[in-house]
Amino acid sequence: MPKSNAQHRAVVVGAGIAGLASAWWLERAGWDVLVVEKAPSFREGGYMIDFFGPGHEVARRMGLLPALERRRAPISSVTSVDSRGQRRGEISTAAYEAVADGVISLLRGDLASAIRDDVRAPIRYGTAVSAVDDGLVTFSDGSSGEFDLVVGADGVHSRVRELVFGPPESFVRYLGHHTAAFTVRDAALSARIGYRYQLLTVPGRMIGCYAVRGGSTAALMLHRSDSAELPSDPAAALRARFGDLGWVAPSLLSVVPEDVYYDEVSQVDMVVWHRGKVVLVGDACGAVSLFAGHGASLAMTGAHVLVEEISAGFDGAFARYQTRMKPAVEHTQEFGRRFIGWMAPASAWRISLRDMMFRLSGLPVVRNLIRSSVAPDVDGVLTSQRAS
Ligand SMILES: Cc1cc2nc3c(=O)[nH]c(=O)nc-3n(C[C@H](O)[C@H](O)[C@H](O)COP(=O)(O)OP(=O)(O)OC[C@H]3O[C@@H](n4cnc5c(N)ncnc54)[C@H](O)[C@@H]3O)c2cc1C
Repeated sequence: MPKSNAQHRAVVVGAGIAGLASAWWLERAGWDVLVVEKAPSFREGGYMIDFFGPGHEVARRMGLLPALERRRAPISSVTSVDSRGQRRGEISTAAYEAVADGVISLLRGDLASAIRDDVRAPIRYGTAVSAVDDGLVTFSDGSSGEFDLVVGADGVHSRVRELVFGPPESFVRYLGHHTAAFTVRDAALSARIGYRYQLLTVPGRMIGCYAVRGGSTAALMLHRSDSAELPSDPAAALRARFGDLGWVAPSLLSVVPEDVYYDEVSQVDMVVWHRGKVVLVGDACGAVSLFAGHGASLAMTGAHVLVEEISAGFDGAFARYQTRMKPAVEHTQEFGRRFIGWMAPASAWRISLRDMMFRLSGLPVVRNLIRSSVAPDVDGVLTSQRAS
Protein backbone atom coordinates (compact mmCIF):
# COMPACT_ATOMS: atom_id res chain seq x y z
CA MET A 1 0.00 0.00 0.00
CA PRO A 2 1.41 3.43 -0.86
CA LYS A 3 2.49 5.52 2.12
CA SER A 4 2.05 8.76 0.23
CA ASN A 5 0.01 9.49 -2.89
CA ALA A 6 2.94 11.03 -4.79
CA GLN A 7 4.41 9.01 -7.69
CA HIS A 8 1.91 6.23 -7.24
CA ARG A 9 0.20 4.88 -10.28
CA ALA A 10 -3.50 4.32 -10.79
CA VAL A 11 -5.34 2.84 -13.73
CA VAL A 12 -8.95 3.83 -14.22
CA VAL A 13 -10.92 1.41 -16.39
CA GLY A 14 -13.74 3.20 -18.21
CA ALA A 15 -13.98 6.82 -19.35
CA GLY A 16 -17.62 7.33 -18.38
CA ILE A 17 -18.82 9.68 -15.66
CA ALA A 18 -17.36 7.64 -12.79
CA GLY A 19 -14.04 6.99 -14.50
CA LEU A 20 -13.42 10.53 -15.66
CA ALA A 21 -14.40 11.95 -12.27
CA SER A 22 -12.11 9.43 -10.54
CA ALA A 23 -9.23 10.46 -12.81
CA TRP A 24 -9.98 14.14 -12.15
CA TRP A 25 -9.81 13.72 -8.36
CA LEU A 26 -6.89 11.28 -8.37
CA GLU A 27 -4.62 13.46 -10.47
CA ARG A 28 -5.33 16.42 -8.23
CA ALA A 29 -4.44 14.23 -5.25
CA GLY A 30 -1.03 13.65 -6.84
CA TRP A 31 -1.56 10.30 -8.52
CA ASP A 32 -0.09 9.34 -11.85
CA VAL A 33 -3.23 8.22 -13.70
CA LEU A 34 -3.89 6.22 -16.86
CA VAL A 35 -7.47 5.90 -18.16
CA VAL A 36 -8.40 3.07 -20.52
CA GLU A 37 -11.67 3.02 -22.43
CA LYS A 38 -12.88 0.22 -24.66
CA ALA A 39 -14.86 2.49 -27.03
CA PRO A 40 -12.75 3.55 -30.03
CA SER A 41 -13.27 7.23 -29.28
CA PHE A 42 -15.09 9.52 -26.89
CA ARG A 43 -18.83 8.76 -26.82
CA GLU A 44 -20.80 11.91 -27.68
CA GLY A 45 -24.50 12.50 -27.10
CA GLY A 46 -26.37 9.60 -25.59
CA TYR A 47 -29.52 10.24 -23.63
CA MET A 48 -30.78 13.14 -21.57
CA ILE A 49 -30.01 12.99 -17.87
CA ASP A 50 -31.30 15.11 -15.04
CA PHE A 51 -28.26 15.98 -13.01
CA PHE A 52 -28.84 17.07 -9.43
CA GLY A 53 -28.40 15.95 -5.84
CA PRO A 54 -24.91 15.30 -4.41
CA GLY A 55 -23.30 15.04 -7.86
CA HIS A 56 -24.28 18.65 -8.48
CA GLU A 57 -22.39 19.67 -5.33
CA VAL A 58 -19.39 17.59 -6.45
CA ALA A 59 -19.47 19.36 -9.83
CA ARG A 60 -19.45 22.69 -7.95
CA ARG A 61 -16.38 21.58 -5.97
CA MET A 62 -14.71 20.64 -9.26
CA GLY A 63 -15.50 24.09 -10.67
CA LEU A 64 -17.53 22.48 -13.47
CA LEU A 65 -20.88 24.19 -13.02
CA PRO A 66 -20.22 26.92 -15.64
CA ALA A 67 -19.27 24.22 -18.19
CA LEU A 68 -22.42 22.27 -17.33
CA GLU A 69 -24.59 25.37 -17.60
CA ARG A 70 -23.19 26.00 -21.09
CA ARG A 71 -24.23 22.46 -22.04
CA ARG A 72 -27.66 22.64 -20.39
CA ALA A 73 -30.47 21.50 -22.71
CA PRO A 74 -33.13 24.17 -23.20
CA ILE A 75 -36.00 21.83 -22.32
CA SER A 76 -39.11 23.85 -21.40
CA SER A 77 -41.42 21.06 -20.26
CA VAL A 78 -42.09 17.36 -19.97
CA THR A 79 -45.24 16.66 -21.95
CA SER A 80 -47.24 13.46 -22.12
CA VAL A 81 -48.91 12.99 -25.50
CA ASP A 82 -51.30 10.50 -27.06
CA SER A 83 -50.79 8.51 -30.26
CA ARG A 84 -51.81 11.56 -32.36
CA GLY A 85 -49.36 13.82 -30.53
CA GLN A 86 -52.10 15.60 -28.57
CA ARG A 87 -51.12 16.80 -25.11
CA ARG A 88 -52.45 14.71 -22.17
CA GLY A 89 -50.50 16.39 -19.38
CA GLU A 90 -47.49 18.61 -18.92
CA ILE A 91 -45.09 19.64 -16.22
CA SER A 92 -43.15 22.83 -16.90
CA THR A 93 -39.41 22.93 -16.35
CA ALA A 94 -39.99 25.67 -13.78
CA ALA A 95 -42.27 23.34 -11.81
CA TYR A 96 -39.80 20.48 -12.24
CA GLU A 97 -36.92 22.62 -11.02
CA ALA A 98 -38.97 23.43 -7.94
CA VAL A 99 -39.08 19.74 -7.04
CA ALA A 100 -35.55 18.83 -8.18
CA ASP A 101 -33.28 21.49 -6.64
CA GLY A 102 -30.60 22.80 -8.98
CA VAL A 103 -31.36 20.24 -11.69
CA ILE A 104 -29.38 20.58 -14.93
CA SER A 105 -30.77 18.56 -17.83
CA LEU A 106 -28.09 17.69 -20.35
CA LEU A 107 -26.93 14.84 -22.54
CA ARG A 108 -24.82 12.18 -20.83
CA GLY A 109 -22.04 12.85 -23.34
CA ASP A 110 -22.10 16.54 -22.48
CA LEU A 111 -21.61 15.82 -18.78
CA ALA A 112 -18.78 13.44 -19.61
CA SER A 113 -17.11 15.91 -21.99
CA ALA A 114 -17.22 18.66 -19.36
CA ILE A 115 -15.21 16.43 -17.02
CA ARG A 116 -12.94 15.07 -19.77
CA ASP A 117 -11.98 18.59 -20.87
CA ASP A 118 -10.56 19.14 -17.39
CA VAL A 119 -8.72 15.80 -17.09
CA ARG A 120 -5.00 15.84 -17.94
CA ALA A 121 -4.40 12.08 -17.62
CA PRO A 122 -3.96 10.18 -20.89
CA ILE A 123 -7.07 8.34 -22.06
CA ARG A 124 -6.26 5.25 -24.10
CA TYR A 125 -9.30 4.62 -26.30
CA GLY A 126 -10.01 1.28 -27.95
CA THR A 127 -8.45 -0.49 -24.98
CA ALA A 128 -10.23 -2.88 -22.64
CA VAL A 129 -8.95 -4.95 -19.74
CA SER A 130 -8.41 -8.63 -20.30
CA ALA A 131 -6.94 -9.70 -16.94
CA VAL A 132 -6.58 -8.24 -13.48
CA ASP A 133 -4.32 -9.85 -10.90
CA ASP A 134 -4.50 -7.43 -7.97
CA GLY A 135 -2.35 -4.50 -9.21
CA LEU A 136 -1.17 -6.25 -12.38
CA VAL A 137 -3.48 -5.34 -15.26
CA THR A 138 -3.33 -6.77 -18.77
CA PHE A 139 -4.97 -4.83 -21.57
CA SER A 140 -6.65 -5.98 -24.77
CA ASP A 141 -3.71 -4.72 -26.88
CA GLY A 142 -1.45 -7.21 -25.06
CA SER A 143 0.34 -4.63 -22.93
CA SER A 144 0.26 -4.77 -19.16
CA GLY A 145 1.19 -2.63 -16.20
CA GLU A 146 1.63 -2.78 -12.45
CA PHE A 147 -0.49 -0.28 -10.54
CA ASP A 148 -0.94 0.72 -6.90
CA LEU A 149 -4.63 1.28 -7.50
CA VAL A 150 -7.07 -0.22 -10.00
CA VAL A 151 -10.38 1.64 -10.32
CA GLY A 152 -13.09 -0.34 -12.08
CA ALA A 153 -15.39 2.33 -13.52
CA ASP A 154 -16.59 0.28 -16.46
CA GLY A 155 -20.30 0.45 -15.92
CA VAL A 156 -23.12 -1.94 -15.25
CA HIS A 157 -21.53 -4.75 -17.31
CA SER A 158 -18.14 -4.21 -15.66
CA ARG A 159 -15.37 -6.50 -16.88
CA VAL A 160 -13.21 -5.61 -13.89
CA ARG A 161 -16.01 -6.79 -11.60
CA GLU A 162 -16.33 -10.02 -13.54
CA LEU A 163 -12.57 -10.67 -13.49
CA VAL A 164 -12.08 -9.88 -9.81
CA PHE A 165 -15.40 -10.56 -8.07
CA GLY A 166 -17.37 -13.04 -10.18
CA PRO A 167 -19.96 -13.41 -12.94
CA PRO A 168 -22.70 -10.84 -13.59
CA GLU A 169 -25.47 -13.20 -12.40
CA SER A 170 -24.13 -12.81 -8.87
CA PHE A 171 -24.60 -9.04 -8.84
CA VAL A 172 -26.96 -7.80 -11.56
CA ARG A 173 -30.65 -7.43 -10.71
CA TYR A 174 -32.83 -7.22 -13.82
CA LEU A 175 -35.76 -4.78 -13.56
CA GLY A 176 -37.97 -6.29 -16.26
CA HIS A 177 -37.36 -3.70 -18.99
CA HIS A 178 -35.16 -2.99 -21.98
CA THR A 179 -34.22 0.50 -23.06
CA ALA A 180 -32.80 2.11 -26.18
CA ALA A 181 -31.51 5.58 -26.96
CA PHE A 182 -30.33 7.20 -30.16
CA THR A 183 -30.09 10.53 -31.94
CA VAL A 184 -31.36 11.23 -35.44
CA ARG A 185 -30.57 14.17 -37.70
CA ASP A 186 -33.92 15.30 -39.06
CA ALA A 187 -34.54 19.05 -39.00
CA ALA A 188 -38.28 18.72 -39.74
CA LEU A 189 -38.79 16.21 -36.94
CA SER A 190 -36.70 18.32 -34.60
CA ALA A 191 -38.82 21.40 -35.37
CA ARG A 192 -42.00 19.38 -34.81
CA ILE A 193 -40.85 18.09 -31.42
CA GLY A 194 -39.20 21.29 -30.20
CA TYR A 195 -37.43 21.71 -26.89
CA ARG A 196 -40.09 19.81 -24.97
CA TYR A 197 -39.45 16.35 -23.61
CA GLN A 198 -42.45 14.59 -25.14
CA LEU A 199 -43.54 11.15 -23.99
CA LEU A 200 -45.97 8.66 -25.45
CA THR A 201 -46.82 5.96 -22.94
CA VAL A 202 -48.98 2.89 -23.37
CA PRO A 203 -49.00 0.03 -20.86
CA GLY A 204 -45.56 -1.56 -20.87
CA ARG A 205 -44.05 0.75 -23.49
CA MET A 206 -42.80 4.32 -23.66
CA ILE A 207 -41.23 6.51 -26.34
CA GLY A 208 -39.74 9.84 -25.38
CA CYS A 209 -38.05 12.41 -27.59
CA TYR A 210 -36.77 15.97 -27.59
CA ALA A 211 -34.89 18.29 -29.91
CA VAL A 212 -31.18 18.63 -29.26
CA ARG A 213 -28.53 20.96 -30.70
CA GLY A 214 -27.90 21.11 -34.43
CA GLY A 215 -31.33 20.07 -35.71
CA SER A 216 -31.19 16.58 -34.20
CA THR A 217 -33.76 14.70 -32.17
CA ALA A 218 -32.87 12.38 -29.30
CA ALA A 219 -35.12 9.39 -28.70
CA LEU A 220 -35.52 7.14 -25.69
CA MET A 221 -37.52 3.91 -25.78
CA LEU A 222 -38.46 1.69 -22.90
CA HIS A 223 -40.44 -1.54 -22.87
CA ARG A 224 -41.21 -4.43 -20.57
CA SER A 225 -39.59 -7.76 -21.27
CA ASP A 226 -39.68 -10.92 -19.19
CA SER A 227 -36.19 -11.80 -20.33
CA ALA A 228 -32.99 -9.82 -19.82
CA GLU A 229 -31.58 -11.39 -22.97
CA LEU A 230 -30.83 -8.73 -25.57
CA PRO A 231 -31.95 -9.11 -29.20
CA SER A 232 -29.32 -9.83 -31.84
CA ASP A 233 -30.77 -7.05 -34.03
CA PRO A 234 -31.86 -4.18 -31.71
CA ALA A 235 -33.20 -2.00 -34.55
CA ALA A 236 -35.48 -4.80 -35.79
CA ALA A 237 -36.59 -5.53 -32.23
CA LEU A 238 -37.49 -1.86 -31.70
CA ARG A 239 -39.48 -1.77 -34.95
CA ALA A 240 -41.40 -4.88 -33.89
CA ARG A 241 -42.09 -3.47 -30.41
CA PHE A 242 -42.98 0.11 -31.25
CA GLY A 243 -44.11 0.01 -34.89
CA ASP A 244 -47.80 0.28 -34.04
CA LEU A 245 -47.55 3.27 -31.70
CA GLY A 246 -48.31 6.15 -34.08
CA TRP A 247 -47.18 9.74 -33.40
CA VAL A 248 -43.49 10.09 -34.40
CA ALA A 249 -42.72 6.40 -33.82
CA PRO A 250 -42.61 5.50 -37.56
CA SER A 251 -40.24 8.42 -38.32
CA LEU A 252 -37.92 7.45 -35.50
CA LEU A 253 -38.00 3.74 -36.20
CA SER A 254 -37.14 4.22 -39.86
CA VAL A 255 -33.76 5.68 -38.92
CA VAL A 256 -32.55 3.69 -35.89
CA PRO A 257 -28.76 3.81 -36.25
CA GLU A 258 -26.57 0.72 -36.23
CA ASP A 259 -24.84 1.81 -33.03
CA VAL A 260 -28.08 2.37 -31.13
CA TYR A 261 -27.64 2.19 -27.36
CA TYR A 262 -29.74 -0.83 -26.34
CA ASP A 263 -29.56 -2.49 -22.95
CA GLU A 264 -31.46 -4.26 -20.22
CA VAL A 265 -32.50 -2.05 -17.30
CA SER A 266 -30.81 -3.37 -14.20
CA GLN A 267 -29.21 -2.56 -10.90
CA VAL A 268 -25.97 -3.83 -9.41
CA ASP A 269 -26.00 -5.15 -5.89
CA MET A 270 -22.71 -6.20 -4.29
CA VAL A 271 -21.81 -6.87 -0.67
CA VAL A 272 -18.19 -5.68 -1.01
CA TRP A 273 -16.95 -3.16 -3.60
CA HIS A 274 -13.21 -3.74 -3.26
CA ARG A 275 -10.56 -6.44 -3.13
CA GLY A 276 -6.81 -5.89 -2.70
CA LYS A 277 -5.79 -2.95 -4.89
CA VAL A 278 -9.03 -3.06 -6.89
CA VAL A 279 -12.02 -0.86 -6.12
CA LEU A 280 -15.23 -0.32 -8.09
CA VAL A 281 -17.02 2.99 -8.56
CA GLY A 282 -20.22 4.16 -10.28
CA ASP A 283 -22.54 1.72 -12.05
CA ALA A 284 -19.94 -1.06 -11.82
CA CYS A 285 -20.70 -1.58 -8.12
CA GLY A 286 -23.93 0.34 -7.56
CA ALA A 287 -25.98 0.92 -10.71
CA VAL A 288 -29.32 2.33 -9.64
CA SER A 289 -30.92 2.19 -13.14
CA LEU A 290 -32.61 4.81 -15.28
CA PHE A 291 -35.73 4.43 -13.11
CA ALA A 292 -33.89 5.99 -10.19
CA GLY A 293 -32.31 8.64 -12.39
CA HIS A 294 -29.42 9.47 -10.06
CA GLY A 295 -26.72 7.21 -11.44
CA ALA A 296 -24.57 9.98 -12.90
CA SER A 297 -24.89 12.02 -9.74
CA LEU A 298 -23.87 9.04 -7.59
CA ALA A 299 -21.03 8.16 -9.98
CA MET A 300 -19.56 11.66 -9.54
CA THR A 301 -20.09 11.47 -5.81
CA GLY A 302 -18.54 8.02 -5.50
CA ALA A 303 -15.42 9.17 -7.33
CA HIS A 304 -15.03 12.16 -5.02
CA VAL A 305 -15.66 10.21 -1.80
CA LEU A 306 -13.27 7.45 -2.90
CA VAL A 307 -10.39 9.84 -3.52
CA GLU A 308 -11.18 11.83 -0.38
CA GLU A 309 -10.83 8.64 1.66
CA ILE A 310 -7.68 7.52 -0.18
CA SER A 311 -6.14 10.92 0.51
CA ALA A 312 -7.03 10.60 4.19
CA GLY A 313 -5.00 7.37 4.37
CA PHE A 314 -4.73 4.46 1.96
CA ASP A 315 -5.19 1.74 4.58
CA GLY A 316 -8.89 1.10 5.02
CA ALA A 317 -9.82 3.81 2.49
CA PHE A 318 -11.90 1.50 0.28
CA ALA A 319 -13.94 0.27 3.25
CA ARG A 320 -14.56 3.84 4.45
CA TYR A 321 -15.58 4.86 0.93
CA GLN A 322 -18.03 1.97 0.76
CA THR A 323 -19.41 2.75 4.22
CA ARG A 324 -20.18 6.31 3.14
CA MET A 325 -21.58 5.53 -0.32
CA LYS A 326 -23.46 2.26 -0.01
CA PRO A 327 -26.45 3.45 2.06
CA ALA A 328 -27.10 6.23 -0.49
CA VAL A 329 -26.84 3.77 -3.37
CA GLU A 330 -29.17 1.25 -1.72
CA HIS A 331 -31.66 3.96 -0.81
CA THR A 332 -31.67 5.20 -4.41
CA GLN A 333 -32.02 1.67 -5.78
CA GLU A 334 -35.06 1.06 -3.61
CA PHE A 335 -36.50 4.37 -4.78
CA GLY A 336 -35.81 3.36 -8.39
CA ARG A 337 -37.74 0.12 -8.02
CA ARG A 338 -40.72 2.07 -6.68
CA PHE A 339 -40.45 4.56 -9.57
CA ILE A 340 -40.94 1.88 -12.26
CA GLY A 341 -44.70 2.29 -11.96
CA TRP A 342 -44.34 6.03 -12.63
CA MET A 343 -41.99 5.91 -15.56
CA ALA A 344 -43.33 2.77 -17.19
CA PRO A 345 -46.92 2.49 -15.95
CA ALA A 346 -48.31 -0.98 -16.46
CA SER A 347 -51.94 0.02 -16.95
CA ALA A 348 -54.01 2.72 -18.64
CA TRP A 349 -55.36 4.08 -15.36
CA ARG A 350 -51.84 4.56 -13.95
CA ILE A 351 -50.88 6.47 -17.08
CA SER A 352 -53.97 8.67 -16.60
CA LEU A 353 -53.08 9.19 -12.94
CA ARG A 354 -49.54 10.26 -13.83
CA ASP A 355 -50.80 12.63 -16.52
CA MET A 356 -53.27 14.14 -14.07
CA MET A 357 -50.40 14.81 -11.66
CA PHE A 358 -48.52 16.51 -14.48
CA ARG A 359 -51.56 18.73 -15.09
CA LEU A 360 -51.88 19.58 -11.38
CA SER A 361 -48.14 20.08 -10.85
CA GLY A 362 -48.70 23.77 -10.04
CA LEU A 363 -50.45 22.83 -6.77
CA PRO A 364 -48.13 22.69 -3.71
CA VAL A 365 -49.60 19.40 -2.49
CA VAL A 366 -49.01 17.74 -5.85
CA ARG A 367 -45.52 19.25 -6.06
CA ASN A 368 -44.66 17.69 -2.71
CA LEU A 369 -45.93 14.36 -3.96
CA ILE A 370 -43.86 14.67 -7.14
CA ARG A 371 -40.82 15.78 -5.12
CA SER A 372 -40.94 12.54 -3.12
CA SER A 373 -41.19 10.68 -6.44
CA VAL A 374 -38.24 12.27 -8.22
CA ALA A 375 -35.71 12.92 -5.50
CA PRO A 376 -34.45 10.36 -3.02
CA ASP A 377 -32.83 12.20 -0.14
CA VAL A 378 -29.15 11.29 -0.41
CA ASP A 379 -27.51 14.71 -0.07
CA GLY A 380 -26.08 13.71 3.32
CA VAL A 381 -23.56 11.38 1.66
CA LEU A 382 -21.08 14.23 1.20
CA THR A 383 -21.30 15.39 4.77
CA SER A 384 -21.54 12.00 6.45
CA GLN A 385 -18.81 11.35 9.01
CA ARG A 386 -15.86 9.36 7.77
CA ALA A 387 -15.80 5.99 9.48
CA SER A 388 -12.69 5.65 11.62
C1 LIG B 1 -31.67 6.02 -20.48
C2 LIG B 1 -30.94 6.42 -19.23
C3 LIG B 1 -31.32 7.57 -18.54
C4 LIG B 1 -30.62 7.96 -17.40
N1 LIG B 1 -31.00 9.11 -16.75
C5 LIG B 1 -30.26 9.55 -15.70
C6 LIG B 1 -30.61 10.78 -15.05
O1 LIG B 1 -31.59 11.43 -15.39
N2 LIG B 1 -29.81 11.21 -14.02
C7 LIG B 1 -28.70 10.51 -13.62
O2 LIG B 1 -27.98 10.97 -12.70
N3 LIG B 1 -28.39 9.32 -14.19
C8 LIG B 1 -29.14 8.82 -15.21
N4 LIG B 1 -28.83 7.64 -15.81
C9 LIG B 1 -27.76 6.80 -15.24
C10 LIG B 1 -26.38 7.26 -15.63
O3 LIG B 1 -26.27 7.49 -17.01
C11 LIG B 1 -25.38 6.19 -15.19
O4 LIG B 1 -25.63 5.79 -13.88
C12 LIG B 1 -23.96 6.75 -15.29
O5 LIG B 1 -23.67 7.13 -16.61
C13 LIG B 1 -22.98 5.71 -14.78
O6 LIG B 1 -21.69 6.15 -15.05
P1 LIG B 1 -20.49 5.13 -15.06
O7 LIG B 1 -19.31 5.94 -15.43
O8 LIG B 1 -20.47 4.36 -13.79
O9 LIG B 1 -20.83 4.07 -16.20
P2 LIG B 1 -20.92 4.28 -17.77
O10 LIG B 1 -21.47 5.63 -18.09
O11 LIG B 1 -21.62 3.09 -18.28
O12 LIG B 1 -19.40 4.28 -18.25
C14 LIG B 1 -18.64 3.09 -18.27
C15 LIG B 1 -17.53 3.26 -19.30
O13 LIG B 1 -16.69 2.12 -19.25
C16 LIG B 1 -16.40 1.69 -20.58
N5 LIG B 1 -16.09 0.26 -20.49
C17 LIG B 1 -16.96 -0.77 -20.33
N6 LIG B 1 -16.29 -1.92 -20.28
C18 LIG B 1 -14.97 -1.63 -20.41
C19 LIG B 1 -13.78 -2.41 -20.43
N7 LIG B 1 -13.82 -3.74 -20.31
N8 LIG B 1 -12.59 -1.78 -20.56
C20 LIG B 1 -12.55 -0.42 -20.69
N9 LIG B 1 -13.65 0.37 -20.70
C21 LIG B 1 -14.85 -0.23 -20.54
C22 LIG B 1 -17.68 1.99 -21.33
O14 LIG B 1 -17.46 2.08 -22.73
C23 LIG B 1 -18.06 3.34 -20.73
O15 LIG B 1 -17.46 4.43 -21.39
C24 LIG B 1 -29.54 7.19 -16.93
C25 LIG B 1 -29.17 6.02 -17.62
C26 LIG B 1 -29.87 5.63 -18.75
C27 LIG B 1 -29.46 4.38 -19.48
